[in-house]
Amino acid sequence: MRSMRIAMHKHIEKEPLRLEELPIPEPGLGQARLRVTVCGVCHTDLHTAEGDIRPPVLPLTPGHQVVGVVEALGAGAANGIQIGQRVGVPWLYSACGECDYCLHRQENLCPEARFTGFDVDGGYAEYMLAETAYMLPLPAAISDEQTAPLLCAGIIGYRSLRLAEVVPGDRVGLVGFGASAHLAIQVARKWGCTSFVFTRSEEHRRHAQELGATWTGGIEDTPNRYLDRVVIFAPAGELVPRALEKLRPGGTLAINAIHMTPIPEMPYRLIYGERTLRSVANATYQDGVEFLKLAEEIGIQSTVVAYPLEDANRALLDLKRSKISGEAVLMVSERW
Ligand SMILES: [Zn+2]
Ligand SMILES: [Zn+2]
Repeated sequence: MRSMRIAMHKHIEKEPLRLEELPIPEPGLGQARLRVTVCGVCHTDLHTAEGDIRPPVLPLTPGHQVVGVVEALGAGAANGIQIGQRVGVPWLYSACGECDYCLHRQENLCPEARFTGFDVDGGYAEYMLAETAYMLPLPAAISDEQTAPLLCAGIIGYRSLRLAEVVPGDRVGLVGFGASAHLAIQVARKWGCTSFVFTRSEEHRRHAQELGATWTGGIEDTPNRYLDRVVIFAPAGELVPRALEKLRPGGTLAINAIHMTPIPEMPYRLIYGERTLRSVANATYQDGVEFLKLAEEIGIQSTVVAYPLEDANRALLDLKRSKISGEAVLMVSERW
């Protein structure tokens, strides 16, 4: 099978991913083999390729927004997963199921959690293995291409809004407007919120306006009233104090980033007034189930830019240069 693998950490300009021919893997206990149709391209894949975050082993096949069809099952498949079923594999590949976090439905924080396309090979390949207990059944009404971005960008955006404690009618700030924010804005709108989008890119501002943003501008701009909640989607620490300046007392700022440059020293007054500052780490199985249901109800529209599997380096480079509106997806194989 064809796969695009990270052989060595390098800047994406130097093309760290290489096309390799690998044997088709056989599923073990509780696993399924998927024939991958589409895989989304996430900022985390870029961090993994460039070595900002370091997977335990190289070479590695990245990709954790995987849409595929179950082609073979190992013994002991969970959740009634069937051969021929269309499923999604998100970032959370598996968790221990036994620790305090797992027992309290916080398996996103499980110390034994494994992540797709990081701890194990992911979806930048024609086939992959996944754990049946953690794969997500997919809404039939949304195409493979449109579904891939939902599986990380969408789910984690949804969790970020929830952890930012967004309630209907809130004035919600979204800082950075890429794959995750373009889906989160549609959820915020469904909840009757107004959205304030901060991004440098003119193209991304236009995209935000099309999706119903009330206000768009740069981080140096300030709307005429405080925001109730803010989510930062860009991995730049200097955005944190700038975003806190716009947040009302009692409001919450959630940071949706697996990696961030250092946060500069800042005056206490920026969090005084009972403002909450928190991070968002991964997502739970339940987040996936809830968000996919909501996405179907909303009729969510993913904006995608499609690339062939072999062009994964180019897709990641375009992502790094903020050239993508919405999300890049790799078209891996035809559905049959
Ligand atoms: Zn656990
Ligand atoms: Zn991701």
